[in-house]
Amino acid sequence: MHMPCIIVITLLICCLLFCHCQKTPKVLLISFDGFRWNYLNRIDTPNFDKLIKSGVKAKWLQDVFVSQTFPNHYTLATGLYEENHGIVANKFYDPKLNEFFSYHVKEDVTSSKFWGGEPIWVTNQIQGRTSGVFFWVGSEAPIKGIFPTVYKNYNKTFPWKQRVDTVVEWLANKPVGQSNQLLNITLALLYFAQPDIDGHKYGPESPEVTEMIGQCDSITGYLLDKLSEDNLYEDVNIIITSDHGMASLDKKRTVALLPYINITKVDHIINYYTGAAIWPKKGYLDSVYEDLLKIGPYASVWKREDIPAHFHYNNNNRIPPVLVAVKDKWLLLNNTSDELPMKGDHGYSNSLMDMHPFFIAHGPAFKEGLVSEPFSSVNVYELICHILGLNPAPNNGSIERVKHLLRHQPSSYPITRQTAKLICISIGLSMAIFVIAFITRHFHHGKNKSHEYFVQSGEERHDEALLSYQQSEE
Ligand SMILES: [Zn+2]
Repeated sequence: MHMPCIIVITLLICCLLFCHCQKTPKVLLISFDGFRWNYLNRIDTPNFDKLIKSGVKAKWLQDVFVSQTFPNHYTLATGLYEENHGIVANKFYDPKLNEFFSYHVKEDVTSSKFWGGEPIWVTNQIQGRTSGVFFWVGSEAPIKGIFPTVYKNYNKTFPWKQRVDTVVEWLANKPVGQSNQLLNITLALLYFAQPDIDGHKYGPESPEVTEMIGQCDSITGYLLDKLSEDNLYEDVNIIITSDHGMASLDKKRTVALLPYINITKVDHIINYYTGAAIWPKKGYLDSVYEDLLKIGPYASVWKREDIPAHFHYNNNNRIPPVLVAVKDKWLLLNNTSDELPMKGDHGYSNSLMDMHPFFIAHGPAFKEGLVSEPFSSVNVYELICHILGLNPAPNNGSIERVKHLLRHQPSSYPITRQTAKLICISIGLSMAIFVIAFITRHFHHGKNKSHEYFVQSGEERHDEALLSYQQSEE
């Protein structure tokens, strides 16, 4: 084949690779805290609806056992059950460290000793990418010695629109910080504490929560506009979900804990209203357990080893020796005379429908107009790893359980621009070697050919001379 043809074909292959490959994938994971799965049916939500229409929605997301904020957000980030990532509740006792963890204490949330597993931003950065986290459980501690590339310390009063502006700037690769660095962020996480706050304060069925659902939809609309302004709307894979749902409370459905505990027999009691972690003194396990069984039908009382396996809540020394799990919509007060502390709560078993959060996803990786059956939140980490082309750390999720959400099945997933660039560089180098080899060979071949011609013409001249000599003799 002629050299110009080979070069033209090679250039065509490179062009096709670049045209058909995807841009470097980007993911934005958003949480609206306490956004129950069926809140979407309460009020017009045109922006969520827009994403669902051209993206995917799950009927609900299956949260993990203790339906609290810290365990569930950290499960979304790591793909691990609570017993494996170690954030077993918003507040817990660690017998090995002989220390308490509380989600309200700055020193605890910023201390790496409490955080197990590998959150998605660490996976992303270990594999050479950059991440931006605008508030997420675990992001303020160095996990495996790594902070997010850029992140914010939690401040619940930080204006919502400014959070969105910042995240969009990150994804648009605009200069970040005083040094005006270009970080090329491929993974961003964004958190809003509503409608959880209003769900607790006014109850999940209140008009205030309905109004707040509208505000969550509006800020989503603002985000979509900002992404469109930067031509990112079609490029960013957006996942919008939550940590848990919310249940209505009633003063008539309260049960007291302290009448069932002899406090001289216990070291620690952590009552979180929808359950309680009990640490009996040495030798009092059975006695404390039997006393607690008298609470009656309003709560399940388990020794750690008897907690049903499907909750994935046994295998961690931070899980208490005796666990009280209150049943649906009952509330565990210390004493019955205590005032109802709020009108809505979560933290119940993840088998209750009211505890399930919503799940929406939209972007080049996702199908259009799909309503999926529910799946567990442990799969979200695998899903993000897959979209970003990351090798996941060991986790409890599986891409097999969420691959039906994806436009391209894992085996036929299109190559990224980065991979295409590598392929083109390889083709270019091979071509260069081929061209050099061709020219070298052609040059040598040409030299030999001209020598051959000179010899031949010499012989011809000799023959001609011989012929003219013979002719002159005649
Ligand atoms: Zn929460």
